Order: sequence, then structure tokens, then C-alpha cells
Amino acid sequence: MAEIQLRNVGKRWGSFVGVHNFDLTIADREFLVLLGPSGCGKTTTMRMIAGLEDVTEGEILVDGNVINDLEPKDRDVAMVFQSYALYPNMNVYENIRFPLKVRGIDPSTHDEKVRRASAMVELDDFLHRKPAELSGGQRQRVALARAIVREPNVFLMDEPLSNLDAKLRVSTRAQIKNLSHELAVTTIYVTHDQIEAMTLADRVVVMKQGVVQQVGSPTEIYDMPANTFVASFIGSPAMNLMDGDVSGGMFRAEHVEIPVDAPDGPMTLGFRAEDASLAEGQGQITAPIYTLELLGDATMISVRVGGALVSVKADKAYRAEIGETVSFSVPKEICHLFEAKSGARIG
Ligand code: ATP
Repeated sequence: MAEIQLRNVGKRWGSFVGVHNFDLTIADREFLVLLGPSGCGKTTTMRMIAGLEDVTEGEILVDGNVINDLEPKDRDVAMVFQSYALYPNMNVYENIRFPLKVRGIDPSTHDEKVRRASAMVELDDFLHRKPAELSGGQRQRVALARAIVREPNVFLMDEPLSNLDAKLRVSTRAQIKNLSHELAVTTIYVTHDQIEAMTLADRVVVMKQGVVQQVGSPTEIYDMPANTFVASFIGSPAMNLMDGDVSGGMFRAEHVEIPVDAPDGPMTLGFRAEDASLAEGQGQITAPIYTLELLGDATMISVRVGGALVSVKADKAYRAEIGETVSFSVPKEICHLFEAKSGARIG
């Protein structure tokens, strides 16, 4: 069991607020991803849970017990960092075994534990190599095995894939997901990569400048972003967002006229590239093509609306010239409406 509760947790350095009022219960065996741009407070939140950073406000509880003052070594958590921090002079076997030695675990159990952990990350054939003789992906797997061998109830992972190339990142990502399921641990995973967040998480926490913007399943966050920040952070490409004005049930911006159910006034309207389509003749957006990108399975057509780029996914066979006039169909059912000033969702 490892249910983690963050009760109004905050971190300040002097007057600078790194994390503000973080309030969330993470269920036993949940895979929670903290997502946000650089400096938004993800790592600080994680370090407070690990005990590597003091909590300025609030409480952290594990299975109902406050752990604010518990030493890191007394917390039942294992961390995997972006830099693997392996001991260069020890071979893989000794690196994986190290946490067992430090914790005074019965030596007669070490061999079995090390072999089981290394088998889980497919390192059986590399046990006698030194870290310098391994690839980046293999080193990252040693770091994973070193976390697994402790048999913790909680895994904390801070951008563990960021030093790997794109292909290895995808396969290691799948391995992490599978491991956390198999080991039945509670996992908190930090990333600024929205695809990692969407593919790994049971729930995602989107953060900005120390403040939680939204907590939800990947689908909830994708389909119902709470504000324009979340909308612009999730999805590839991110949601199209346009600033304009509503009057008499019509949203208007340069090149744009979309009927909406909203009161008069300034508004930000969003829709996803894959939800709209090319229109024959008159659509709700009509503008010259700014760029055309071939994605393999589709063609992405972009136009400029005000200062923003607005993209629509078309058939992969679609071809046109830059500058040609194109028309998009944007029915109101696919539109997300946000307050112009605060960016908060209104519909
Ligand atoms: P990244 O993705 O770049 O690692 P992050 O979201 O993990 O970013 P944090 O490392 O949690 O961000 O940092 C949050 C904020 O707190 C940043 O603005 C950072 O500069 C600040 N910060 C971190 N450590 C300290 C410190 N010891 N003293 C003062 N400010 C700090």
C-alpha cells in the first residue's frame, strides 16, 4: 500500500514561490505524471515527496502518516533521475546491488534480488560491464534496476528518458509503464513532454509557475482543457487558439466567422486540427495557405489568423500551393470557448 496525500503543500525560498498550494491524493498503484514547462515546480514537488527538499507549507502523508520530518532514507521511495548517477568503478551487478548494501538487507538475499531486477530490465548479459561500457539506454536501465531492487512502494521518476534518443525513448517508456504495473507500485513521474504524459499516466497534473492548472485523465485533459495554457500545452499540434469577439452569437476574427453559443464580448476560441475539415467553397475560416506539411498519414494545412497559426488536418493526398485560398469547416460542436482575459474555459 502507498497512498500519497499532498495537503496544501507549498515551497518558498524567501519571497519566491516554487510550488503553491499543491493539494492532491495519489491513489495506491496510480501512475501520476507531473507535466509542465521548465521551472513550473515539477522537480521541487517530487523532491519534497522524496525528502530532499523541506516543505514550507502543508503536509505530505503516506498511508495516512505525516512524513514531513522523515529522513529520505526512511521513506519507502526510490528515485530515478535524468542523469543516471551510476558508480563508474562498480560493474552493473554491484551498481544494482548497492542500495541493498546501504540499507543493510540480508546479504544472502542480494544475488537473487539483483538477478531478478536485472532480468526485468533485460540486463542479464551485461552484469560484468562497467557503466562506461554501456549505451545510454542500458545505463538508464541500470538506474531503473537499482530502483526496482529495493522493492519500494513508491517510484519517483524525474525525466528518466530525456537523455535517450527518440526510438529508445519509446521502447523504454513502454518498459516503464509495464514495470510499474507489474511491480504494483505508486509512481510519480515528472516530464515536460506531453506525449510521455499522455501515454504513461493514469492522471496528469499540469503545472505552470508553481500552480496546478488541471488534474485529470489524459482524455479529460485533452478533451476538456481547463484553460488556454493547458489547451496550448497538450496535443501535437497543440489546440488552435484564436482571439476574437462574439456579437449576436457569432465569433469573429480576421478571416473567421463561427457561430457560437456565447454572450457578446471578447473571447478566445479553440479547436483541434483533427476535428475540423476542409470545406468546399464557404467555410467558417477562409484564408490564404501559410504552410503545408506532409505528415505521412495526413497533410497539415496552416493559415494565419491574427498573430496565430491555425492548422487543419486533411487527407494525405491533399496538395495545394502556399498562398492559395483555402476554406475550413469549423462546426460549433468542435469549438472550445475560453475567457479572453483569464483564459479560463467557459464552454
Ligand atoms: P525543469 O523542467 O527545468 O526541471 P521544474 O518544473 O522541475 O523545471 P523546479 O526545478 O521545480 O522546476 O523549479 C521550480 C522553480 O523554483 C524554478 O523557478 C527554480 O528556479 C526555482 N528553484 C528551484 N530550486 C531553487 C532554490 N534552491 N532556490 C531558489 N529557487 C529555486
